[in-house]
Amino acid sequence: MASRLSENPLWNVLVLEAGGDPPPESEIPLLLFYNQHSNATYAYHPLPNERSCKAWENNQCHWPRGKTLGGSGAINAMLYVRGNRRDYDRWCAEGSEGWCYDQVWPYLQKSITLQGDDSHPLGHMNINEFGRFDEHISELFLRGSAELGIPHVEDFLEGSYLGYAHVKGTIVDGQRSSSAKGYLAKVSKRPNLKVIKNAQVTKLNFNKNGDQVESVEFKLRQEHSLKVKIGKEAIVSAGTLDAPKLLMLSGVGPRDVLEPLNVPVIHDLPVGENLQDHVIGHIYIRVPAEPGDPKKDLDSIYDYIMHNSGPFTGIGPTSLTGFIKTNASNPEPYPDVEMHHITFTRGKSVFLQLYLNAMEAKPAFKQYLLDQVENYDLIDVFVLVSHPASKGSLNCNPLHTKIHLS
Ligand SMILES: Cc1cc2nc3c(=O)[nH]c(=O)nc-3n(C[C@H](O)[C@H](O)[C@H](O)COP(=O)(O)OP(=O)(O)OC[C@H]3O[C@@H](n4cnc5c(N)ncnc54)[C@H](O)[C@@H]3O)c2cc1C
Repeated sequence: MASRLSENPLWNVLVLEAGGDPPPESEIPLLLFYNQHSNATYAYHPLPNERSCKAWENNQCHWPRGKTLGGSGAINAMLYVRGNRRDYDRWCAEGSEGWCYDQVWPYLQKSITLQGDDSHPLGHMNINEFGRFDEHISELFLRGSAELGIPHVEDFLEGSYLGYAHVKGTIVDGQRSSSAKGYLAKVSKRPNLKVIKNAQVTKLNFNKNGDQVESVEFKLRQEHSLKVKIGKEAIVSAGTLDAPKLLMLSGVGPRDVLEPLNVPVIHDLPVGENLQDHVIGHIYIRVPAEPGDPKKDLDSIYDYIMHNSGPFTGIGPTSLTGFIKTNASNPEPYPDVEMHHITFTRGKSVFLQLYLNAMEAKPAFKQYLLDQVENYDLIDVFVLVSHPASKGSLNCNPLHTKIHLS
């Protein structure tokens, strides 16, 4: 947004970003799961609810959010998947003006198309194919899905929302390309665009009527409390958890949540309610495999460092994405489940260990899986419920953000 707004030279745009530059390891696609416990993330955990997240420490799922330039896009899995027509049109029908599929589509296209030229870059996201390795595992899934009559499609576009496809990713030349790189870095020379890193916004100060933000308070490098006056408007884009948290700490939220915290209520609104995410069920499959050749790993590291090539440029079979309709008699051409596949080849317990540490798996569960990978390839099939019926809420005070999942 900062990139687009500062295309107008008459507008001065300031970005306050809580994090710093993304860590170098976040650049490497294959290390997608290894950025989740660093200074570049906020490590959130929903409260235990006795029903979900039981394989993870304290019965709590780890819910990381990017705290760095590029946000969660600098630590995510880079899969470029757009919503389908029905999803957008449903939001639109529910009152989200401007979010109908036909209204959004031109902007989605614009965001991934080169804008401007070398001397006047305007910023865009780069979408490219991932490097493809471990194809034998993708082949297993493609053969299995074909047996069930689920097609292999080129891409998920209008008319082909169901099936399996190798989706593209936000990568360039074997490296991650986040929105910070695609949009901000490209236009960093613009005199009317400033970015302050390590600037955690702590409060929005409203005018007397509560209809305009007059200034924004932030903490620089967790040391200096500073305030910036707003010339025109403040845009809060701190993500699903931190945006409602900031609003609540600024007095915009449910009265019954804010008053006990002694936060003066400026607008009594249901901020923090209706929290949704695609729920993931993990299914582990072990597949007989020959022992791997450890020398190959060294070759892969060499290939990546020297030539930007090899398995580290991809995310293994994770780019193979399935969109499935679980009720075959439903005539609508839309999925209700999404599938991803994380694989660990025989003997590569280090990768599995790092992955399970990232997810904060309980020791017994971790050990069981580590034992399996000694003699088998191991596949973790992520089964994502696209439209979960359950909803949660986010409740916060200045010290703790409480996330309830129902
Ligand atoms: C592990 C993981 C894997 C994912 N994989 C995929 C995927 O493959 N494909 C996909 O499409 N989506 C994926 N997602 C989801 C996707 O990354 C997010 O939906 C998207 O990044 C959300 O964008 P956002 O701008 O709303 O928030 P964010 O990207 O989270 O950005 C919020 C920004 O605000 C900053 N911020 C927060 N609070 C403050 C504050 N108080 N003051 C100043 N700055 C603040 C943060 O540091 C951050 O930079 C994944 C997410 C995660 C966590």
